[in-house]
Amino acid sequence: MKSLRVLLSISALIAATSAGAVAQAQDDAWQKQKAERFKPFTAAQTDPIDAAVPKVATAKPKQQRRALVFYRCEGFIHGSIPYANYALQKMGEQTGAFKVDLADTYDVFNRENLEKYDCIILNNTTGMTFPEASQQIAFLDFINGGKGLMGIHAASDNFGRHPECRAIVGGEFGGHPWNAGGNWAFKLDDPDHILNAAFEGKGFWHTDEIYQYKNETYVGPKVLRLLVSLDMGQEEVSKMIKDGPREVPVSWLRKAGDGRVFYTNFGHREDTFQNPVILRHMLDGIQYAIGDLEADATPTAEIPKVDPALSPAKS
Ligand SMILES: [Zn+2]
Repeated sequence: MKSLRVLLSISALIAATSAGAVAQAQDDAWQKQKAERFKPFTAAQTDPIDAAVPKVATAKPKQQRRALVFYRCEGFIHGSIPYANYALQKMGEQTGAFKVDLADTYDVFNRENLEKYDCIILNNTTGMTFPEASQQIAFLDFINGGKGLMGIHAASDNFGRHPECRAIVGGEFGGHPWNAGGNWAFKLDDPDHILNAAFEGKGFWHTDEIYQYKNETYVGPKVLRLLVSLDMGQEEVSKMIKDGPREVPVSWLRKAGDGRVFYTNFGHREDTFQNPVILRHMLDGIQYAIGDLEADATPTAEIPKVDPALSPAKS
């Protein structure tokens, strides 16, 4: 019996060691890919971001705010990640709305460390898989307990292994019929909503890759307050799918427990982070998630129908 116990504890030790070794190998692989992909910036890259970043916060911060920007990828690695990291840092510095800490290792997700932060920003993370159950719990408790989450683009191509986290974001990537080279039409579902202020009440065209979501994962307008969607009234948009026009949301906000979530699908392309309108939209979403900008998160299905602001004819 004693020898059986020894055997069991040895096998548990081997299992733990090999799990640790797997996690270490994953970390090494990510660090190598990151070094290959993300080269130091030149002025040609940073100058247009500097010019586009908002200079003034939309809401006055109630206190010094701190955002944890996480950009780890287990799947596709977006070239726009360093652009977004730079833009978020610059945005925080220039507006005073928040300070940024960048992170790409899962050990930041523990209760003690997260207490320092008001908001987690998922910058194009793909396939996030918490090595420890406690890290997923810390992430969920952070948001449900009253803090904020902001997701950029691939933050929805992210939690296939963690359905509860996926549901908090709002949906999971189900392809991108609207590819990165296309110029697409967008409507404001809620033209007067404060988190749409950047668009000044008008639909618009923008060049970026846009996702649709797997039906079974998309939590929908009973949970989300929809802000921006593809404008299916434009044939250039609707012809990209075979099953006819349907709602494809792009930006939304929601409550999650006592916390606040803002997500936008913009941000595949590097030059999206050189666009002052989109950056203002992102800043407002972050200030909502942080808790400084009051915004109505009543789900779209629970409010009286609002006339959308459709996109103009393509110029
Ligand atoms: Zn993308």
